[in-house]
Amino acid sequence: MVKKSLGYVELEWVCPQCDSRNKGTDEKCVNCGAAQPEDVKFTQAAQETLITDEAQIAQAKAGPDIHCPYCGTRNLATAAKCVQCGGDLTGGEVREAGRVVGAHSTAPVKEATCPHCGASNPATALKCSQCGGAMRPAAPSPSRRRQTTTEKPKMGPMAIIGIAIAALVLVGICVVIILSMTPSEALTGTVQSVSWERAISVEALQDVTREAWQDEIPAGSPVGACTEKVRYTQPDPAPRSVEVCGTPYTVDTGTGMGEVVQDCEYQVYDDWCQYTAREWVVVDTLVLNGSDMNPAWPDIVAGSDRREGGRQATYGVVFATEDKTYTRTFSDEAQWRQYPIGSRWILQLNKLGGIQSIEPAE
Ligand SMILES: [Zn+2]
Ligand SMILES: [Zn+2]
Ligand SMILES: [Zn+2]
Repeated sequence: MVKKSLGYVELEWVCPQCDSRNKGTDEKCVNCGAAQPEDVKFTQAAQETLITDEAQIAQAKAGPDIHCPYCGTRNLATAAKCVQCGGDLTGGEVREAGRVVGAHSTAPVKEATCPHCGASNPATALKCSQCGGAMRPAAPSPSRRRQTTTEKPKMGPMAIIGIAIAALVLVGICVVIILSMTPSEALTGTVQSVSWERAISVEALQDVTREAWQDEIPAGSPVGACTEKVRYTQPDPAPRSVEVCGTPYTVDTGTGMGEVVQDCEYQVYDDWCQYTAREWVVVDTLVLNGSDMNPAWPDIVAGSDRREGGRQATYGVVFATEDKTYTRTFSDEAQWRQYPIGSRWILQLNKLGGIQSIEPAE
């Protein structure tokens, strides 16, 4: 991000003695003459206009004002001696600077009513054009109003229902896990039947459309349509870049004037293209199954543009007890081979009626 300066604007301060609004550069209240307090917080004018006076701009650029260490009078950063008492300003307190006062507001604002005679004045007026009376502070600035009305987002009824459902599902999952781990009765079972299923996925070389930055496309690949897209952002301009800036805002310079700045960066565009790649794609799955103890893999005819993808196998055993059958599946062939047809086992069941463990019968 680069901070761009758009110019300077006059800030305002409110006199704590008489509540009158004053220009930021006024060191004394124009209404009652009270000195501007050292800890004054500058606010934005109802409508900000960029300062065009070169001398005033130079003053804003000079840096924060300095308070005289002897009499407290506010002096310009360029002054060497206090305008009030002539004291040496080295060691004087430098005004606070750098605070964001708010979004730069140039939109026309509503008229303000004079509290003394009721006449209508521009909202930026510090004194009534009718009676000369001091205008009161304007309503809180938009940024301040936003702060006071920002509430913590309340949870809607749908969110509460959602959380309740999620909690119920979680409780349900826990109950199932506990039940499946709780032993119930033990039964004697005989292996009634066995089964196996083996599958091989078949891959073929095919043309596939992919997308990538033009300079990252594999060499030799046919390139299709391209579109311009933002590839990255950087603080400096570059070929094929577009400047993108945020909303201008006003920063307190400590001089009674604010600097209007904008955070900018450059979005660099590049070509994002479609291209054709030759890739191995799963086109088929060959399956073989049986109900004996002699599992086999399906035959695959491989070639230059046809190859084996992955292999998968499942093995099943059906146990018969006095009044019911129980099925157990294995992915490991050696485990499955322990259960030939006719062999007898003790099946430990869980509370859900499934097999928890299998032990050899005497
Ligand atoms: Zn005053
Ligand atoms: Zn002084
Ligand atoms: Zn008036």
